[in-house]
Amino acid sequence: MVIDERLGVFIDSLSWNIPQYLKEAEKKAASENVPVIKRPVQTLLGFLLRFASPDAILEIGTATGFSSMLISEYASQAATIDTIEKVPARIKGALENYKKYNKETRINLIQGDASEVLETLVAQKKLYGFVFMDAAKGQYMNFAGPVYRLLKDRGILVTDNVLKDGEIIQSRYAVTRRDRTIHGRMRSYLYYLTHSGDFDTVILPVGDGVAVSVKNPG
Ligand code: SAH
Ligand code: MG
Repeated sequence: MVIDERLGVFIDSLSWNIPQYLKEAEKKAASENVPVIKRPVQTLLGFLLRFASPDAILEIGTATGFSSMLISEYASQAATIDTIEKVPARIKGALENYKKYNKETRINLIQGDASEVLETLVAQKKLYGFVFMDAAKGQYMNFAGPVYRLLKDRGILVTDNVLKDGEIIQSRYAVTRRDRTIHGRMRSYLYYLTHSGDFDTVILPVGDGVAVSVKNPG
């Protein structure tokens, strides 16, 4: 978390309010060490979905389906939800969750590596009003091109984990060698979102950092 922990708990106590079954799914994910979006990010996603009411939503990075189920809760009931995941064990977990919570027809899980799936969706001329990017941080810049093409004009792109626990502001020599590549790539991605003209972007210190972008027409 980027902000003071007690402040975070206070904010969540006021604004975090998800249905019981999602609390149960969040708890299960935590017990299995499966990543899920943090509580203030859950609140922000729910808010943006109610506000923008997109009719087609794409998520990159399903894990075991927590955030896609949350999306299904706050999107309009007519909205379509596609989500991409490549790891077999996660796919299995997501399908189990969808079955358990009656989301099998509501959420469309696309199995495969997002770098390939995104190109397929572009070729199919799919268009989304809302994209939630929450996969491998080092790949965000590679996904940015297809994601731009998949978004409608003024469509929303929400990107999770962009401040990586505040590590992004450390000099690249202060981060471990393993993280250095990701660190550089995330900086490039944030620079792209804020300077390319493709998007209007605000970077928020919510959870591990969230970028909220709106697509500018090409
Ligand atoms: N959005 C989920 C958490 C996602 S964690 C939630 O809040 O419930 C990130 C997930 O992205 C992991 O399960 C990982 O396997 C997946 N992932 C990472 N890189 C990917 C890629 N290139 N293609 C598809 N899935 C990917
Ligand atoms: Mg995340």
